[in-house]
Amino acid sequence: YTSICRLCALLALPLIVIALTSTPINPSGWPSRFPAKDHCSRCGLCETTLVSHVTDACAFLGDGMGRIDGLEDEVHGRRREDDLFWSKNDKVINPSKQDEGRFGVLSQPIALARGVETEAQWTGVVTGIAAAALEGGLVDAVVCVASGGMDSDFADPDPIVARTVEDVMRGRGVKPSLSPSLRVLDEVREDPAIRRLLFCGVGCAVQALRSVEKDLGLEELFVLGTNCADNSPTPQAAKNFLEAGVGVDDVSAVKGYEFMQDFRVHVKTDSEYTKKPYFCLPGTVAAPSIATSCLACFDYMNSLADVVVGYMGAPLPKGGRMDHADQTLTVRNTKGASLVDNAIARNRLNIQNPVAGGSGKHEKLASATVAKDSVIMSIIDENIPEKGMPRLAGEVMATVLGGLGPKGVAFARYSLDYHVLRNYLHVVSEWGENRANKHMPKYARDMVEEYTLNDEQFRTTRKA
Ligand code: FAD
Repeated sequence: YTSICRLCALLALPLIVIALTSTPINPSGWPSRFPAKDHCSRCGLCETTLVSHVTDACAFLGDGMGRIDGLEDEVHGRRREDDLFWSKNDKVINPSKQDEGRFGVLSQPIALARGVETEAQWTGVVTGIAAAALEGGLVDAVVCVASGGMDSDFADPDPIVARTVEDVMRGRGVKPSLSPSLRVLDEVREDPAIRRLLFCGVGCAVQALRSVEKDLGLEELFVLGTNCADNSPTPQAAKNFLEAGVGVDDVSAVKGYEFMQDFRVHVKTDSEYTKKPYFCLPGTVAAPSIATSCLACFDYMNSLADVVVGYMGAPLPKGGRMDHADQTLTVRNTKGASLVDNAIARNRLNIQNPVAGGSGKHEKLASATVAKDSVIMSIIDENIPEKGMPRLAGEVMATVLGGLGPKGVAFARYSLDYHVLRNYLHVVSEWGENRANKHMPKYARDMVEEYTLNDEQFRTTRKA
């Protein structure tokens, strides 16, 4: 009898372990009860039964974003080509020399595009591609991020499984805080009608999604990514940034905001469109406005999506605004190309110009921005300025830099390099050099080495 009991217990043990490790974590315990703790980007995986895969799937545990190198091979059939980061110093950037090292695998040159949607973040390139995918029968459903309930505001993300074009329209506009987009994966797995899925999301969520892709039981998965940097940890943090940093009086009227190529934050409401130079923001507003996970992110470019939409590489005309300007379209593989072609054929997307170009040097500006960054100043114990520049001085600075500084693809290089260098210093200070090097994809390690070799300013900041 005892032996039978022991045998039963032994057989039941794996089932108990599986049941325990597959129990979703209650979101109210975020971030302390989540495996990546403060560095959890709340992608939503841990809020599903797929939590059992978290150690290999999470972008902030173990080898973290270092896994992107291998996943690139699996997803796109090859890794990005290595590039020299420092030597890309052409005054006018040759569009045919768009570095894969920075921007990830490219199956065609980066294009400029516009959508046709109103009430979108920009012109609705993302929403147009997603809606066309449903209309054209490429997919049965789309995962996108709507706004929270009836009483919620623009900053409150609510991931949904959209089964109609009307549902997809609920995803219009960026909700500027961490979104648990993968939270709906159990709903997807339980719905037999969903065989082909389009997932819209940011890099950290896409990395986790790619790691569990085989467990979803889908016939086909398409991934439409956005570029993403410096998201807010919570909707409230985004609203505090607008009030205390930008000086917005009525946050409830805000429909969206972005950090733009003219070195100004643009804020749109139903009735107004305002701009404030970055240099006028108080330094103290940055730290609470940026999720800690974003300081450990090395996938601004969303390397594992099939196609990526963003704005940082698209030239902004003088006086331009986000909802009238071009966006960049980065196609990484044939699935990405089929999504784009389908959206063009359905008149939901216009390609403006075959290739995105740019001008101006960016390296010195990137390392100077890192040195003056309040996240870095707090690591090296420097005083963070409580006030930004006076308005006039800030406007002059933004106008001068906007005129002389990097533009188009060169601005994207500036923005990307700055985030990689800043985040490298953050992860080293948090985790030490060994773990930092494991966590970073090869392109990011190479970039840090090239700046260390060539840039006096970065060497000084790194030493400090
Ligand atoms: P729309 O058609 O309005 O569609 C918006 C899409 O964003 C929808 O699919 C929706 O599901 C999704 N979405 C909304 N909120 C979230 C969220 N919190 N998390 C994940 N997905 C969400 N581009 C840059 O070049 N540089 C940046 O630094 C940058 N940061 C970004 C940060 C975030 C959190 C997001 C979501 C996007 C960011 N982008 C960035 C991309 C850019 O803001 C626009 O989203 C993109 O250009 C698409 O504009 P659109 O008009 O085509 O989008």
